[in-house]
Amino acid sequence: MTNEPTQYEAVDVAIIGAGPSGAVAAALLRRAGRSVLVLERQHFPRFSIGESLLPQSMAYLEEAGMLQAVVEGGFQYKNGAHFVWRDHASTYDFRDKHSPGWGTTYQVERAKFDDLLIGCAAQQGAEVRFGHTVTGMRAGDAPVLEVIDENQARYEVHARFVLDASGFGRVLPRLLNLEAPTGMPTRAAIFSHVRDGLPLDAFDRNKICVATHPEHRDVWFWMIPLAGGRSSVGCVADAAFLDVAEAGREALLHALIREEPTLNRLIGDAPFLMPVNRIAGYSANVERLHGPGYALLGNAGEFLDPVFSSGVTIALRSAQLAAKVLERALNGAEVNWHADYDMPLRKGIDVFRAFVERWYTGELQNIIYYPRQTPMIRRMVSAVLAGYAWDESNPFVADPVRRLNTLYEACKG
Ligand code: FAD
Repeated sequence: MTNEPTQYEAVDVAIIGAGPSGAVAAALLRRAGRSVLVLERQHFPRFSIGESLLPQSMAYLEEAGMLQAVVEGGFQYKNGAHFVWRDHASTYDFRDKHSPGWGTTYQVERAKFDDLLIGCAAQQGAEVRFGHTVTGMRAGDAPVLEVIDENQARYEVHARFVLDASGFGRVLPRLLNLEAPTGMPTRAAIFSHVRDGLPLDAFDRNKICVATHPEHRDVWFWMIPLAGGRSSVGCVADAAFLDVAEAGREALLHALIREEPTLNRLIGDAPFLMPVNRIAGYSANVERLHGPGYALLGNAGEFLDPVFSSGVTIALRSAQLAAKVLERALNGAEVNWHADYDMPLRKGIDVFRAFVERWYTGELQNIIYYPRQTPMIRRMVSAVLAGYAWDESNPFVADPVRRLNTLYEACKG
């Protein structure tokens, strides 16, 4: 019989997915002496979107023992972001920011980056099984995962705890009906890579470029220079605006790039190095980020929007927070997942949410391009853009909605 579970095994923590959140959680738990099994349905290296990191993520990589490998990984150095709309331009240098901590990071090809992180977790003793798909879970104090491998052999994993790091796979939200409305409109992205051939003085490769469409303020582009003269380029808009058959995606992305003067100058008609991809309706949320015997990490829990490159940072933060709470629980302490994990994680996500919402109304764009910003305020905004969304000493973190509204009024006047 191939469709019956053939065996079962026991482990302290089973992790679904070997992306950044799964890899960092695995390493942190191994460092605490726990047995860890990571189940990943794909084989690495594999393409993934989300190539611009934020400096805040460096602290989590360091804690997980991955920093040296990342620094020596040959990735494109990053120290800020350049925003452009019509004849307005504004550059944020993340080293000049309110919060202490790293001001630099990397722009990464995720195939290589993700492979490197999970390799570091494996080196620290995590067992990683590629080509193994989680198909079911019996939740409870002693959760059981149902797994199928590529030979169609089924087996069960009995864990003391399960971390769902399955990203857009959203394994437990789907299996356990945890999905909740996002409050975000349905947007889409089309994207590819180009050989950019940028002369050295054309653009500062150490920064990503975020360009708003000259006519549509809710349509924006990213250009993320990568190592080796390659750049990632993409356009984000309301899903209907980018609703085109697969055969028409390449022409649409070229046409949109030609409409934005900066990207037209930097990239123009450079041929795409891979088929133009489309992801739509990526925003997601859940009722709660934990339940009996499990917690949700990274995109398996919540995903807002790509505009401020916050996805990987939130994923790593979730892994770091969850690993701490879980370690206490496995040691027999009474833990409150809602107070110790869900609420603190969502506090930072809500800071990004306030920024994202005001980006699409145009208010934050006006703030970014306002020429008479005080250096102090600029450093506070810079800190959030650098990912320091949990540093309550920053007024834009402590009270983002009120601060942004007040700042917008000041910029208008
Ligand atoms: P993932 O990286 O998605 O990893 C999940 C893993 O789980 C995958 O390898 C998958 O194969 C595996 N899996 C899924 N289902 C199963 C299963 N049933 N069994 C076993 N394994 C399974 N973020 C940034 O930080 N910077 C950016 O510039 C950025 N740009 C983005 C642009 C777009 C258009 C979009 C949509 C997102 C962007 N993001 C960006 C977000 C970023 O992609 C994610 O936030 C990040 O990859 C989340 O990491 P993760 O570890 O939660 O999940």
